[in-house]
Amino acid sequence: MSTKEREEAMNEYGFNTGLLHGTNEKYPQGATQVPIYQSSAFRHDSAEDLEKIFDNKKMGFSYTRINNPTVESFEKRVTMLEDGIGSVACASGMAALTNAFLNILQSGDEIVAACGLYGGTVELFDDLKPFGISVKYVKENKPEAFEAEITEKTRLVFAETIGNPKLDVTDIQAVAEVAHKHDVPLIVDNTVATPYLIQPLKLGADIVVHSSSKYINGSSDAISGILVCGKGLKWDPDRYPGLAPYRKFGPFAYIAKLRNGLFRNTGACLAPQNAFLNNLGLETLGLRMQRQCDNALELARFLQGLGGDIEVNYPGLEESPYHEIAEKQFRNGYGAIVTVRTGSKEKAFSIINSLKIPLIISNIGDTKTLVIHPESTIAAHISDEEKLQSGVFEDLIRISVGIEDIEDLKGDFKQAIENNR
Ligand SMILES: *Cc1c(COP(=O)(O)O)cnc(C)c1O
Repeated sequence: MSTKEREEAMNEYGFNTGLLHGTNEKYPQGATQVPIYQSSAFRHDSAEDLEKIFDNKKMGFSYTRINNPTVESFEKRVTMLEDGIGSVACASGMAALTNAFLNILQSGDEIVAACGLYGGTVELFDDLKPFGISVKYVKENKPEAFEAEITEKTRLVFAETIGNPKLDVTDIQAVAEVAHKHDVPLIVDNTVATPYLIQPLKLGADIVVHSSSKYINGSSDAISGILVCGKGLKWDPDRYPGLAPYRKFGPFAYIAKLRNGLFRNTGACLAPQNAFLNNLGLETLGLRMQRQCDNALELARFLQGLGGDIEVNYPGLEESPYHEIAEKQFRNGYGAIVTVRTGSKEKAFSIINSLKIPLIISNIGDTKTLVIHPESTIAAHISDEEKLQSGVFEDLIRISVGIEDIEDLKGDFKQAIENNR
C-alpha cells in the first residue's frame, strides 16, 4: 500500500481498525505477526544489488544498525498512526530525542522549549551545552511565551503534548504557528498523550517523538523510541546547512539525512525483538488508552473528593488551567497520568508505602498502575529552578493509571490517604 492509500485507509476506518489493518502488510507463510528478523546483516545476489542499496537507489536491507524488516514494520505502523511520511525507530526514547534534535542543530543554535518537560530531556539539554547548543525555557506553556523566547539563533521549538509530570498541555496548533512564523520547526514529544488522543502532525507540528517504552509498548517489556516526520517540514538551506545535501529527497530530506548520517553513526538502532514486542503491544493501544483515560478521570475526581491536604492535578478536571485546551485538542480522554500534592514529603512517602495495588516504579504507561515520588527520583538531578519549572514539588506523587478495576483502585487510594491523615 502506498503512503497515500494508507492515509486513506486511516481516514476511512476508526483508530483501532486502522491500527490493525491499515498498513496491510503480508508476512511469509501467512503469519499474522511480523517475523522477528533476528539477523544483523542481509545477503544479496550480486555486488551491484548491494551497491544500489548503499546508494539509496534500491530499497532493501543491508545491516540492522541501519534498518531491519521487523523494525520497519513497527515504523510503518507508527508513521500511519501519527499521519507522518516516515519514521526512524531508536533504541530508546532518549535516543529518538537526541537524534531528532541533533539531526538539524549545530553549534551556536538555540532551542526554545516548554517548561514542564520530562527530566531526562532537561538533562539531555544540559548535555548539549558543551557542544554550543543552548536552551531557553518558556516561563509558562502559552504560545506568546514561546514567541517571546525566539531569537535569530533559534533553530527549533520543542514541547510535550502533555508535560510529564507537570501535566501542562501545549496548544500544538498555536505553537506550530508561532514556530513557523519564525521559520523554525516544532518538535513534539507525544509519549504521554499518544496518537489515540492527538496527532500533532495534523495540527502543524513537524516532527513527533515517542518514548515507545511507555503506552505504545504497553506492558513494559522493551525500551524503545521512535520519531516521525510530517509532510509539512519546511527549512531554509542557509539556516539548516546540514540538510542542504539532502534537498533532492524533497519532504523526506530530514529522514534521509538522519538514516544516512547521525542515526546509523550513533548506533541508536532498535533491536528486532523489541520492535516485535512493540508491534504486539501496539495492537491494543486504543483499548488500553481508553480504559486508562477513563480510569484516570474517575480516580482524579475521586481523589479530589477526599479533601484534606489532597490537591489533584489532571487536565481532565475543570479546575486544571489546561482543561480548556485539552478539551479542544484531545479526543477520547485526557491522558492517564494524575498527580497529587499531599502536604509534605513524609505524607507522600507514607501514602506511597501504604498503597497495596500500585507498583512503586520509575515508569509510565504500563497496564498496571504505577506510583512514584518524582522529586527524589526522576527529577533528583535537575536544579531547584528546573524542578519548579517542571511542576515538581516535595509533596507530589505521580500516578500512572493502569487498566485495573476502578473500584479496587479507588478503595486502595482511599485507605492509603485516610490512614495517613
Ligand atoms: C520516558 C520518557 C522519555 C524517555 O524515554 P526512554 O524510552 O525511557 O528513553 C522521553 N519523554 C517522555 C515524555 C517520557 O515519558
